[in-house]
Amino acid sequence: MNNSKGKVYLIGAGPGDDGLLTVRGRELLAEAEVVLYDRLASPSLLRHTADSCEKLPVGKREGFHSFKQEEINALLIQKANEGKTVVRLKGGDPFVFGRGGEEILALETEGIPYEVVPGVTSATAALAAAGIPVTHREAARSFHVITGHTKEEGIPGQFAQYAALEGTLVFLMGVSHLEQIVKELLENGKAADTPASIVEQGTTIRQRRVDAVLGTILETAQREQVKPPAIVVIGQAAAYHMHSERLPLAGLRVGVTGTEQMTNKLGAKLREQGAVVYKAPYVRIRAREEFRDQMPIWKTYAWLVFTSSNGICIFFEQFYSAGGDIRLLSHLKFAVVGGGTYRTLLQYGIKADYMPEEYTVGALADGLASIVKPGERICVLRAAKGSKELGVILGQSHIRYDDFPIYDTVIDREILERLYEQLPVLDYLTFASASGAEAFLQEVQRAEEFGGTVVCIGRQTQEAFAGRSFRTAAAECHTAEGVVETILSGS
Ligand code: SAH
Repeated sequence: MNNSKGKVYLIGAGPGDDGLLTVRGRELLAEAEVVLYDRLASPSLLRHTADSCEKLPVGKREGFHSFKQEEINALLIQKANEGKTVVRLKGGDPFVFGRGGEEILALETEGIPYEVVPGVTSATAALAAAGIPVTHREAARSFHVITGHTKEEGIPGQFAQYAALEGTLVFLMGVSHLEQIVKELLENGKAADTPASIVEQGTTIRQRRVDAVLGTILETAQREQVKPPAIVVIGQAAAYHMHSERLPLAGLRVGVTGTEQMTNKLGAKLREQGAVVYKAPYVRIRAREEFRDQMPIWKTYAWLVFTSSNGICIFFEQFYSAGGDIRLLSHLKFAVVGGGTYRTLLQYGIKADYMPEEYTVGALADGLASIVKPGERICVLRAAKGSKELGVILGQSHIRYDDFPIYDTVIDREILERLYEQLPVLDYLTFASASGAEAFLQEVQRAEEFGGTVVCIGRQTQEAFAGRSFRTAAAECHTAEGVVETILSGS
């Protein structure tokens, strides 16, 4: 084996929902130096990659150059020959009609080492997500995954055999040839009253299930304007709806924006209540290295002030990695902006000395102005683009303070881009920070395609929407739980 060649990982990205990537897949994405990804692979999976990773879309999608299979193979070979660790991220499972085999053969010819990481295939997952049990005692004792069309011959020829099968027939890539599939099955003796369903965009926020029987599925699909990617399911299994509607948020579609941490936490809480969640973690937090290299002289200060949980986590990371010792801070008093930041600080073993009653930066500044003693100096540790209000109020009260920008918020345009595309189907959209809301509103025309309710954590975030046509609500309690409460209350 030639050691100078990089390894290629062929990874199954799962069927669409980014929670359905495997743990192994996620670990390898973090190590990748180059990622070649498909249209069907959710782009938000790319957040698991390092900032320095080169990300190349190679799928067929509007606005992208559409790559031929040979070009993809050549690119994989080229990157591996440069010694890079390459991830080839493919929708579903790489070997289920994914042409993964062709890529492997090309790598073998060149002597390039590779590994295949299986994925959750849409051939079963889209059905499960739509409440169709792909096998079920008595109803379906086998299942058969069939391509709806092949490269050379259009639709495959063995319909006499397919029609005779009792198990669940699962057609991938079947929408454009649906007419022929139905006709062949009927002509070969499959009963016209066999249950038939189509699952469109299974496991995603746009998932839709259309039900009929074999004799009427074509007409139904045309009426409902079913579009790919979709799976056609024919057999008794399609008669089932194994989907619980018993939870309070069942049927609601909620888009959750913010940082990775925020969207994970809030997304999980909303799912618990039955909502379908679309996570758009387009806000990335990046620590400022300069701060670690030039820490403030702690003795100068009497107070440390935090206005976000991110600020607290980043501060402690930087403080310890710069060789800090917690006792350097023992003379300081701590102020935080609200319950969430209070709890985050507590995780570092510190009980905040001050937290305003109303969780806003303005209230924090007013509060500080009334309790800081003459001569005491304040150290504010927060995002580079923090609210100006804090400085204005402290300045007016003649309080001496230094404002240290310790992190930047960076917007991931691609994730935001995909969020815009989902807006028409969302009922709610949540925002956790004014900067996240402002980034969303930058392309206001596209943002206005959202017709549901915007739910904000905090009034300050809500204010970003002032003067626009959105229906908004602010969570009373400034936490993930508060957002869930607001939606549950039917705002
Ligand atoms: N390797 C993929 C399949 C690639 S072929 C896998 O294992 O899932 C592409 C076809 O897969 C689409 O035409 C569609 O039939 C199906 N497909 C992929 N993702 C889907 C989804 N989320 N919902 C419904 N069908 C999907």
